[in-house]
Amino acid sequence: MLYDVVIIGGGPAGLTAGLYTSRAKLKTLLIEKGLTGGQVATTEFVENYPGFDEGISGIELSRKMEAQAKKFGTEIIQGTVQHISSEEKIKKITLEENQKTYESKGIIIATGAHPKYIGVEGESKFRGRGVSYCATCDGAFFKGDKIAVIGGGDSAVEEAIFLTKFAELVYIVHRRDKLRAIKITQGRAFVNTKIKFIWDSIVKKIDGEDSVTALHIKNVKTGEESVLDVQGVFIYIGYNPNTEFLRGLVKLNGNNHIITDDHMHTSAPGVFAAGDVRSKGLKQIATAVGDGAMAAVTIEKYIEENF
Ligand code: NAP
Repeated sequence: MLYDVVIIGGGPAGLTAGLYTSRAKLKTLLIEKGLTGGQVATTEFVENYPGFDEGISGIELSRKMEAQAKKFGTEIIQGTVQHISSEEKIKKITLEENQKTYESKGIIIATGAHPKYIGVEGESKFRGRGVSYCATCDGAFFKGDKIAVIGGGDSAVEEAIFLTKFAELVYIVHRRDKLRAIKITQGRAFVNTKIKFIWDSIVKKIDGEDSVTALHIKNVKTGEESVLDVQGVFIYIGYNPNTEFLRGLVKLNGNNHIITDDHMHTSAPGVFAAGDVRSKGLKQIATAVGDGAMAAVTIEKYIEENF
């Protein structure tokens, strides 16, 4: 079946693109490999997305965005894109699961990003057994426990605050002595009596038997090594873009983000990108939504001019 637009990725950028293209009467298919919402769906609470003055849960915001895109006709399927062929004007998108191929006049890549791994001993061994990258998903397993959160950005500090709902104590282990998170979030963490900061420290090893029991850290200023008695380690040291599957289709920057212009054109004709997967300054729900709208309007113009 020939679509006007295939969107790959169902986070805020992809869902917004779908809302706009289907509302513009373009036949739109959105392919998402997991749950729609992307990183927002695993965020406990969102309070900086306009229109929700009391804040909104990440899951609820995701469901609302999905419902709105579907209302105007966006078809959403679950699948992992394995290959895109773009040599012809009509693009072909093949799924990994069943090798099914979809045809489309244009493509919007909105595949977002995945958490970075820290790469220390014990991280992969204890993944799902104390090591986690999602406090919303796993926080409730740590009632009354001690937890370490690694990182000093918005994700680490926000999720550490959330984890204090369950844990007896949350250590924030950061490699410097200043947080990267915005000031309002920093202030909330500093007054939270269940949070203890461990500055200038890096993780050496995650230890345990069946599950995590200890985190080995090293102070980078003094060289002193110590061990924290923890049952959970939540890693929030940033994200890598989901661009592996593109294999040379479009130009990437040094960190593997897709390079676009302000209208979301990539280096490949008929292929557009939106959201955290592209190279840009501010990665927020609000900016992802803006990218999605822009990509949709640009692809509409591209189809008008080329088909
Ligand atoms: P981030 O801003 O890139 O912060 C990553 C943190 O991890 C930094 O503090 C960094 O330390 C540390 N780090 C990086 N590599 C490390 C390593 N190998 N070992 C130890 N620590 C390491 O990532 P993020 O917090 O996930 O945020 C990603 C983007 O989403 C940001 O633009 C952020 O503003 C946005 N975000 C926004 C909200 C919100 O608006 N409510 C919520 C979550 C995320 P250094 O500081 O020393 O570099």
